Amino acid sequence: MKLSDSICGFPLLLLAMTTFFVCLPGEGENEDNTVVEFDRNWTRYQIIDIHAHIGQFAGFDLSEATLLENLRTRGIARALVSNIDCAALPGVTRNLDEFEANKRTMQLVKAHPDLLRGLLWVRPTEGKIHVAKRFLELKLGGKGKSQPIFVGMKFHPEMNNFTADDTSVDPFLALCDEQHIPAVFHCGDGKRSAPQAIYRAARKHPHVPVVLYHMGFNTDHREAIECVESSIKNGDANLFLETSQCDADSVLQAIRSVGSSRVLFGTDASYFGKEHYARYDELIQALKKNLSEADFKNIVHDNALKLFAI
Ligand SMILES: [Zn+2]
Repeated sequence: MKLSDSICGFPLLLLAMTTFFVCLPGEGENEDNTVVEFDRNWTRYQIIDIHAHIGQFAGFDLSEATLLENLRTRGIARALVSNIDCAALPGVTRNLDEFEANKRTMQLVKAHPDLLRGLLWVRPTEGKIHVAKRFLELKLGGKGKSQPIFVGMKFHPEMNNFTADDTSVDPFLALCDEQHIPAVFHCGDGKRSAPQAIYRAARKHPHVPVVLYHMGFNTDHREAIECVESSIKNGDANLFLETSQCDADSVLQAIRSVGSSRVLFGTDASYFGKEHYARYDELIQALKKNLSEADFKNIVHDNALKLFAI
């Protein structure tokens, strides 16, 4: 699969197909074929979406207006946002340097401090650790004065052409360690972003919480789940799983395998456009139906609160 055909590894064709499977507004059927009300507003769950983007990606609407509209319509409590303009996909993304891309994230977070926090998108092979440091020092100002604007660091091995455990990544993970912030990695089916590669990087920095976005995009998720299981058993890394573009059964399996304290809700907002969160109705319903209240709260809110200190 060519990267130019996908965002976060998501095939355009599949996306086009799935947009047709939109439920009728306000209605659905449960197993007894009785009509149930879908949750169209999630405000009461205080959901934190740990995977959102701004920036330009050819063929998709990642506009800030669409993201904010999606967050407000669904009643998302907070989203962690990174700028995909920092990705290096010729003809697809803008390939901005870390300063320009993260500056825009900073401005947006400052404009919407109640709704957003930033994830600092880094390009490890370029070694601009001083730029990363400066951004991490920035505070919100105003009401939330002492709170940082950026609460984690974002790595995309596929879109920035490095392997997750490359030595160039180490100074950045060391900075995460120093600043007590998590690292989030695009985790996929390519060698560069394979769960095992991220696990190898995380083992070198065992105190840094490392989140495997997508639990291994375009995979059956087993390798990602097994890596987290191993890390817990061996105590040699601090790994977590994230739910974007995962089917509900796999997420439930992940929770059974690694526990509700190791899985966080994220959606890759707003890759599915103006009805982005409708793509996650099924997952939220399945989590609510199958988990205890405490476990559900862990996944959608508490874990993010603790991990990113927001
Ligand atoms: Zn993403």
